[in-house]
Amino acid sequence: MEFDKIRRHLVLKYTVVITLMLISVLCISSYMHLRTIYTAIEETLADYLNEEVREAERDLQRPHISIEPPQYINSNSNAMMSIWYYKNQITHAEILDNPALSQKLLERINNRKYKEKTIYKENINDEWSFLLMSQNIKSKNGQIGKVVVISNISKMERWLSSFFIYFATAVLLLIILSFFLGNFFAARAIRQINIILDRQKRFVSDASHELRTPLSIMLAYTELLEHKHSKKTLQKLKEEISSMAELTGKLLQFARFDNAQVPLEIEKFNLSQFLNTVCQDTSLLAQKKNISIKTDIEDNIEIGADKLQIKRLLYILLDNALKYSPENTEIQLSAKKNKTTAIIRIKDHGCGIAPKDIEHIFERFYRADEARSHNAGQGLGLGLSMAWLITRLHRGKINVESTSGQGSTFTVSLPLRLKIQTFINTGK
Ligand code: ADP
Repeated sequence: MEFDKIRRHLVLKYTVVITLMLISVLCISSYMHLRTIYTAIEETLADYLNEEVREAERDLQRPHISIEPPQYINSNSNAMMSIWYYKNQITHAEILDNPALSQKLLERINNRKYKEKTIYKENINDEWSFLLMSQNIKSKNGQIGKVVVISNISKMERWLSSFFIYFATAVLLLIILSFFLGNFFAARAIRQINIILDRQKRFVSDASHELRTPLSIMLAYTELLEHKHSKKTLQKLKEEISSMAELTGKLLQFARFDNAQVPLEIEKFNLSQFLNTVCQDTSLLAQKKNISIKTDIEDNIEIGADKLQIKRLLYILLDNALKYSPENTEIQLSAKKNKTTAIIRIKDHGCGIAPKDIEHIFERFYRADEARSHNAGQGLGLGLSMAWLITRLHRGKINVESTSGQGSTFTVSLPLRLKIQTFINTGK
């Protein structure tokens, strides 16, 4: 519910911002375009006026002023027109082929007083628009005339208004699209956050459950101590306290990793030698179950990694291999490298993992078959999730292949050169 509210707020804010941005772009670009178009027309009109004035003045020099028949111009064209007046009589006229419109335009020109060389706009019937400029001319004998040039911008304005309607529709569609896309991406992001939160909640509830069990056992032993002091009870109490301390320590590690509080301490070291040492140490434990550890480790694999964390990762995998293998079996540890990656493989011939469990074993507190796992010892289901976290911190990968009853192979790939120091965990 809370997330739905956040999503709605996010989408609303995001859509308002996008809308404002698109509307500003629409307004600014329209203004710039209109300015450029109108300036170009004004300049052309001014040039045209100069030409017509020169011609009209030349005409005035003649002994007899001729009155030309009007020339008709298509009302729907963008052509420019000129009208010359001499003593208030039209001597030259380029007029529109629409008589009613022509009549209205001429009336408008005759009734208005225009300042010379200034641009004016005339609208007729809301449908027709004209830009015009005028200039007075003088004949030799001082007679006054006038030249008016007109640009029919009706067609252009019609085109511009339909262009802006298309443009505004496109903007509207973009706003609607961004609203739906925003909704979709916000929902996806929130789903992801929800999954992480769910994991976190499960982790907290599992952790509390795990802590409650030793606490109740300790309480029971303490009550027992009230009645009878016995070494055995004290011993049991100590065991529970130390298992609780171990669990608390592990939980603290997860919390620190999750909050990215532990930067990796990357150092360059010889992984091949390191693996051999770890194997020797583990062999002592393996002897207890008469398990032999066979190695096939490529020489001189140099790696940049956090040595302590890699050790922890190897111990988790080897410890599990030992825990879940029967006596008198063999564990194989192999390592090789390619151009960029070191690949470590730990193969056992133990109980294996059922297909239904495989996808969960890296989750915190997950233990496959409870009974079988408990037979293998007091595991908490935290080892593999820690191994997963350490691998991810190193920008590496961990995966498992396993057949129930036959054994498991865990493969860890680690980049040879790691530069990243910190990592924010969003995973298991
Ligand atoms: P645990 O402390 O229970 O071993 P882990 O996180 O290390 O916790 O392992 C999770 C579960 O994965 C174990 O409970 C076990 O069922 C299964 N598992 C891990 N490693 C192996 C293995 N090598 N062979 C068989 N099962 C394994």
